Amino acid sequence: MENKLIKKYSYAWDKYDSNDMERVFELSERYKGFISKCKTERECVEEMVSIAKEKGYRDLNEIIKEKGKISSGDKIFVNNRDKALALFLIGTKSLEAGMNILGAHVDSPRLDLKQNPLYEDTELAQLKTHYYGGIKKYQWVTTPLAIHGVIVKKDGEKIKVVIGEDEKDPVFGVSDLLIHLSSEQMEKKASKVIEGEDLNVFAGSIPMKEQEEDKDKEKKDRVKKNVLELLNRKYGICEEDFVSAELEIVPSGKARDYGFDRSMIMAYGHDDRVCAYTSFEAMMQLENCGKTCVTLLVDKEEIGSVGATGMHSKFFENALAEIFELAGKYSGLGLRRALSNSKMLSSDVSAAFDPNYSSAMEKNNAAYFGKGIVFNKYTGSRGKSGSNDANPEFIAEIRNILDRDNVSWQTAELGKVDAGGGGTIAYILAQYNMDVIDCGVALHNMHAPYEIASKADIYETLRAYYSFLLNA
Ligand code: MN
Ligand code: MN
Repeated sequence: MENKLIKKYSYAWDKYDSNDMERVFELSERYKGFISKCKTERECVEEMVSIAKEKGYRDLNEIIKEKGKISSGDKIFVNNRDKALALFLIGTKSLEAGMNILGAHVDSPRLDLKQNPLYEDTELAQLKTHYYGGIKKYQWVTTPLAIHGVIVKKDGEKIKVVIGEDEKDPVFGVSDLLIHLSSEQMEKKASKVIEGEDLNVFAGSIPMKEQEEDKDKEKKDRVKKNVLELLNRKYGICEEDFVSAELEIVPSGKARDYGFDRSMIMAYGHDDRVCAYTSFEAMMQLENCGKTCVTLLVDKEEIGSVGATGMHSKFFENALAEIFELAGKYSGLGLRRALSNSKMLSSDVSAAFDPNYSSAMEKNNAAYFGKGIVFNKYTGSRGKSGSNDANPEFIAEIRNILDRDNVSWQTAELGKVDAGGGGTIAYILAQYNMDVIDCGVALHNMHAPYEIASKADIYETLRAYYSFLLNA
């Protein structure tokens, strides 16, 4: 009998020949390019829409406008407010037979600017922020930060902003207290060392020159006025325009290889763009399929999948209804059957075993760098609360599919029982009564400004997605 226990100890690296190694490193370069450039949900969606169009994907709304028809082999994308994206490759089987769905999120933890961000204190201009997602606040000080996002003016004009990525750009940052004066701070709990309201981003220190005619006027906030003047010259905006802006403060700089052997990647936003990018690539590699294949890349996962662009939105269901209609087959019952007959890999990052923090992990049920895509039967916290908890029948089917294609995979829980926990979008799609399981790439430093992923795991994850789309 084949000894399946061996799988637990096998590293993907061991099975690679020189051609495989080349493919692993080529994928890493493509991914590094993507993640270095796409640091907001909008930037991810914009880049993916442009690649999808090149691959022959058409905008669902345009097909509706043209009163077009949909049939097997058609490639369709649905862009939800530039922040979430659904991709469909229509299969030869009926939609009612169910779809093979990949899902991941494109939002990442960061600092968002408040609606009234700019102020001056003691001749220093700063920006107020409200952090987005779960972060260790002390990790975000004294590191170079960039501003990415959009400002929408009252007339609807949308101005894209990226400052702090080009080496000629200025960068931004949050200050920390010098160690010499930190005796009180160093006694604080980690959650209080840097408080949320203190994550203020420095923005300038030159006061606006006093004009002769202004001599008698109010002289306060001259540094702030100077910053506003610069913004007005560069973007044509006034202070009130911040009210209708989405400006995200993210770590500055490109993704880098990590380690002497370059086996890992250090980057901002692996969670969850490493799963989003590999899902997207698997989808782009596919030219035809039996069951209709779908990739969902959604926003707002880090704050509970809420809002019109989060997974709780009816966006996907509505898009599917439109597709049924264009295929000439719309019925409420047909739509429900399509959803409940579907299978989904809900992809999100997992925690990779870290020998520096081994006490948070249970070694037999932890994920390890280099052992491939991680499957989490369940996530949640305190007794699996809030988890999807996949069915073993479905897990058996996935094992079979991946083993046939010699994909490296492993299973894990997110840390020790009662050590903490986490959630994903899995339970939301499971509400349609479809089979869903959590899976993804394991990371070190999850939710830190720079997260770490293994190149072998990224490659095996792409292979797993491709096998699933074709064979589930
Ligand atoms: Mn995530
Ligand atoms: Mn996360």
